[in-house]
Amino acid sequence: MKYHSTRTNRDSLSFSQALRAGLATDGGLYVPDFSEQMPDFRHQQAQATIAQTATQLLATFLAGDRLAESLPAICTQALSFPIPLTALHVKDSYQLELFHGPTAAFKDVAAGFLAGCMARLRSNDDPTETIIVATSGDTGAAVAAAFHRRPGFRVVILYPDDRVSPRQAHSLGAFGDNILAFRVNGNFDDCQRLAKQALSDTQLREQMSLGTANSISLGRWLPQMVYYAHHAMAFYAQHGKRLGFVIPSGNLGHSTACLLAKKLGAPIGDAVLATNANPTLSEFAGGAAYRGRPSIATLANAMDVGDPSNFERLRWLFDNDENALRKQVRIERVDDQDIRAMIARAPHIYGAVVCPHTATGLIALERLRFTGNDAPFAVAATAHPSKFAETVESIIGHTITAPDAFAALLAKPSQAEPMDVDYQHLRDQLLNRTVSV
Ligand SMILES: *Cc1c(COP(=O)(O)O)cnc(C)c1O
Repeated sequence: MKYHSTRTNRDSLSFSQALRAGLATDGGLYVPDFSEQMPDFRHQQAQATIAQTATQLLATFLAGDRLAESLPAICTQALSFPIPLTALHVKDSYQLELFHGPTAAFKDVAAGFLAGCMARLRSNDDPTETIIVATSGDTGAAVAAAFHRRPGFRVVILYPDDRVSPRQAHSLGAFGDNILAFRVNGNFDDCQRLAKQALSDTQLREQMSLGTANSISLGRWLPQMVYYAHHAMAFYAQHGKRLGFVIPSGNLGHSTACLLAKKLGAPIGDAVLATNANPTLSEFAGGAAYRGRPSIATLANAMDVGDPSNFERLRWLFDNDENALRKQVRIERVDDQDIRAMIARAPHIYGAVVCPHTATGLIALERLRFTGNDAPFAVAATAHPSKFAETVESIIGHTITAPDAFAALLAKPSQAEPMDVDYQHLRDQLLNRTVSV
């Protein structure tokens, strides 16, 4: 399988090359080239374990690549925790519990896959590679967990001070060793700008090996197909019906991966995208031209995105036909007031305590039911509610227990260093800080 940019079909790269490159040279995102071979998920068997499904589905995507042989081991490691589909207390409604990984959010799966790939692409005598990651909360911790104590890697996290939940902040600073966490005196866009400045600093990059792990990475994008395809296949085998998904969305990583799995024949029903109050996608869905803009802060902070970085992949999935896309993908925008109301209601109606992101999904599902749609749907539960304890507990009126892996992280001491929005300071840190593994 080869990969080319969303903006051209020249310059074919292998999976590993595209993963290393990150962004294509023309500014587009890497997508698989289906002109020679289109993977077919229709005849895949529902496998015993999700790691086996992952290996089976991703095999064609890595065919001919130097990582192909390692694929089973990479998948086994990345999918080492359970991802159950559980029934909610409302007919034909489920939640896909994606939050049982080390940092209690779904990004653990893809970050683990990416780290497994990158570690195997490294030679022992390569210089230490620094992964720089700007995060609005969940990505940084997932990437840190995936690279923690991996020889040859150092992770530098930049997060906006006071804009992440206290437990997100704690988990970002709790790793230590080869992970450096900086709490930046600014917003997420400032963090992202600092990271981009470092990545485009050619002089700096001559002096050190610098990479990133952001949401457009092919190594993070493709593995996100797996849990949707796996559960849709198992559901179809059991019930003879397609399972639809409601997907809380920000940068459009896992939603586009789900749509890709559907395009390749996985028995997935409709995909509904839920956003928070950030209006970019809902305005587009309503017929306006796409317009990226600065993000606004909401209770579902991991979805505070004003210019989704995977939007080009969403268009590519529909052969750049925006009207076809508008027709086939429903977008529901959910504001903070509705999020709060759903967090309060969900335990009684659905039998589930949910995080603010998952709450946007349940609201979107309710709006869908209101139109008379009674097909089976699963809401992607993207984070465990305990990660947003101060919001959720104050609404539901009792404490929530964190899952074991996340509780262990919270029990460790945590330290993040303050940093002003000052590129020279970041540059000095990148050049001069040593870490232990
Ligand atoms: C990242 C994240 C999302 C949004 O996922 P995208 O792939 O960026 O659309 C939703 N919920 C949680 C908890 C997240 O961490």
